[in-house]
Amino acid sequence: MTHGSGQVRVYKFGGTSVGSAERMRGAARLVAGCPGTPVVVVSAVAGVTDRLEALRTLAEKGNEEGWRGELEAIRALHLEILADLTGEGSDASEAGARIEEQVGEIRTRLERVQDDPGEGSGGPWETVGHQVAALGEDLSTILLETALRQEGVGALRIDAREVVRTDWQNGRGIPRDEETYRRARAALTPLVEAGTVPVLQGYIGATEDGRTTTLGRGGSDFTAAMVGAALGAPEVTIWTDVDGIHTSDPRIVPGARLLPELGFEEAVELAYFGARVIHPAAAKHAAARNVSLRIRNSFAPDREGTLIRADRREGPSVAAIAHRGGVVLIKVRSRPLFMAHGFLARVFEVLSRHHVPVDLVATSHTSTGFTLDREEELDAVVGDLQELAEVTVRRGMATVTVVGSGLLGRPGTTGRIFRVLEDRSVHLISQASDMSVSFLVDEDEAPEAVRRLHEELIEQGGWE
Ligand code: ADP
Ligand code: ASP
Ligand code: MG
Repeated sequence: MTHGSGQVRVYKFGGTSVGSAERMRGAARLVAGCPGTPVVVVSAVAGVTDRLEALRTLAEKGNEEGWRGELEAIRALHLEILADLTGEGSDASEAGARIEEQVGEIRTRLERVQDDPGEGSGGPWETVGHQVAALGEDLSTILLETALRQEGVGALRIDAREVVRTDWQNGRGIPRDEETYRRARAALTPLVEAGTVPVLQGYIGATEDGRTTTLGRGGSDFTAAMVGAALGAPEVTIWTDVDGIHTSDPRIVPGARLLPELGFEEAVELAYFGARVIHPAAAKHAAARNVSLRIRNSFAPDREGTLIRADRREGPSVAAIAHRGGVVLIKVRSRPLFMAHGFLARVFEVLSRHHVPVDLVATSHTSTGFTLDREEELDAVVGDLQELAEVTVRRGMATVTVVGSGLLGRPGTTGRIFRVLEDRSVHLISQASDMSVSFLVDEDEAPEAVRRLHEELIEQGGWE
């Protein structure tokens, strides 16, 4: 199969869509049948990024037996998939050697940092942490390239570190858009024009001085959207394990319905508040560059999925409910003599100094509550806030968000929502736009709250 004519299509495969040799073959067949000129972006094999994060923690705690065992298991998993894909052919030995090389490199880096953890505060661990996390995509791309070649597709693995240029901000890789677009065009366009299918790791990039960075969990969607935007692809297809974006997570709400079409604003809102089927930054990027995103099920590729359209202005209104766990609530109460004047500004100055994005906020005259969705900087932030005010911290929270265009303009909506939630403890309520309203509940109560809201607001109708 040769490609090389027609419009560029970015195909992104999530972890379950490349979770075994069989799934890799399925993904390769989808690429072979792509109606345009494909560029492929791949996640790590399902479960591998979680295991690599655990491995990193073991190493950081000095559990050498633990991390070596886990690394060996990850190595074995990929070699097994490779053997399943290729039998004993020559592809197997070449790809096998590359897998060994990648794993060996991580082993050496971990040994080195373990022997000499002292340089800088947390520096070497942070650096090696990204390298470890990136191993999943480093390996899955070798496997998918092999699977594609076996399907007769002329595929070539391109290191995403050469394409996605990021800054290093507070331990995270933040892409430089224009530079990334330029690099993507320079690296990928000649291949695409020659009919070769580039295969890139999602989720990873590099700084100018060559440090590996990762883009945050679920970041492969983000890579795909950036590549699509760079190459002017009309559409980026996100191949995953559900039929598309539903009115709620179908794994939690059995009655969730597929949304065939969605506007970008709604998609960003849903993604941001926990519908992990699409990464919020992916939707934002695609929106800015007029690239449509289509979410499709690689297990049922005959279905149409969900189209997120840049130009969707009207049409039936959408309602959906998302939730996100692992949220921390911080309450800050100004001390009596510490005047309200300028208080909020000082609170937010602390957060900005630590590069901590705030999620939900609610304020009164003397106190402010807000949520954070990560704990990395928590102790430092709380320490600084305590200089200004009394601070309380509650972990184990979840946000539940109802998203819908024109949501709160509809008479009776808030009443319906509050009736559903009346017997739960709601720790904070926040409505920042006409499109969504969020509640903070205890994490273990979130799925039930989502189910009940879904039943009341969506299954019982009244939205269309
Ligand atoms: P991938 O590995 O393909 O990137 P993810 O696990 O990141 O897949 O995202 C797909 C999952 O997102 C689904 O399996 C589903 O459980 C979850 N999900 C959460 N909210 C929604 C929603 N509103 N619609 C569809 N899926 C959702
Ligand atoms: N492998 C990464 C993760 O599990 C990135 C992704 O899958 O999008 O978060
Ligand atoms: Mg994902």
